[in-house]
Amino acid sequence: MPKDVKPATLAAQAGGAIDTQSGGVVPPIQPATTYARDRDYQLLNADNVYARDHNDTTRLAESVLAGLEQGAAALLFPTGMAAIAAVFRTIPTGGCAIVQSGIYWGTTKWIRDFAARRAITVIEVDTSNAEALELACRDHPANLVFVEIPSNPWLKVTDIAAAVRCSHDIGATLVVDSTAATPLLSQPLALGADIVMHSTTKAINGHSDVLGGVLVTRAENALWQEIATDRHDAGATIGPFESWLLLRGMRTLPLRVERMCENAMKVARFLQGHPKVTDVYYPGLESHPGHDIAKQQMAGGYGFLLSFLVAGDQQDALRVAGALNLFHRATSIGGVESLVEHRYTIEPHTGIPETLLRISIGIEDADDLIADLAQALG
Ligand SMILES: *Cc1c(COP(=O)(O)O)cnc(C)c1O
Repeated sequence: MPKDVKPATLAAQAGGAIDTQSGGVVPPIQPATTYARDRDYQLLNADNVYARDHNDTTRLAESVLAGLEQGAAALLFPTGMAAIAAVFRTIPTGGCAIVQSGIYWGTTKWIRDFAARRAITVIEVDTSNAEALELACRDHPANLVFVEIPSNPWLKVTDIAAAVRCSHDIGATLVVDSTAATPLLSQPLALGADIVMHSTTKAINGHSDVLGGVLVTRAENALWQEIATDRHDAGATIGPFESWLLLRGMRTLPLRVERMCENAMKVARFLQGHPKVTDVYYPGLESHPGHDIAKQQMAGGYGFLLSFLVAGDQQDALRVAGALNLFHRATSIGGVESLVEHRYTIEPHTGIPETLLRISIGIEDADDLIADLAQALG
């Protein structure tokens, strides 16, 4: 493929250099766990020894993801959490991490448990408040700063350029979980972040049928080598079928994201004007406190994730969720089908409002989604 093609072109032909053996326009899946040597004991293909780290299908998916994020290299993992764990394992025992508060609960929970075992200090701070982040960096010589854009489920927007400045002032690595922004809407590496992470389980695959995670690095430095070696040695590798499905999913990623963003904007505006809704969290709304920063660091839309508060109490929120006919009541985000989740049922101890419903907007017809919300709220 010519260099410097636009993301839509890169994605549409994801991994699609003609397979020279078959002539196929899509890549084959190589399921072998091991690779042969000739009679002189030379590898038939010098790149491939054993499948824990060597698989051509996975390499192809990684090269597409690195291209979409404009990074130097990418590593796929079997889940998003495995990717996050891989990067946190680089923090030395007794080290320090500054972590955005109120992010994906699975991330917060795992980091707290892991840090306690390793005597790592975790400073949780609302990084959408640039001053609070600056103070945290000034007071704590952290090894790593971890933020999420926009945050799940609060949709807070951290100024990545500001986070880069604070992190680099203290020599910390800035890691950005960009799952809810996708590689299409935000480019944290171009803004100076060191590593961008995605749960590829979400919009990158987009069809709610593959678990995966990815790290993409701005530079192939010593820290990156440590992560790559750990993946190989500890064995957190994704399977070739999953990599192939990711390649297949990514071909329509720009189209899906475009439609999801359009739909989400319409749904957000509808909810904002509804008398039974007391608040809407979506960075595309001018009233959202992070709108101006989102406008600067997101291009092409504000994502597919939004949360809103139902007027009344927990039972009212659950009744709205229960009355929806099109939205599936399920956790997760980023699929072609719209999902609704009552987060309080899952994580009542985290300060999440009892009336908050988080929705992930799919690619259905926006008017159908709005009609469904209207009848459920009614
Ligand atoms: C889902 C999710 C994760 C975890 O990814 P898994 O693939 O479920 O392990 C991490 N961060 C965010 C923002 C997510 O939505």
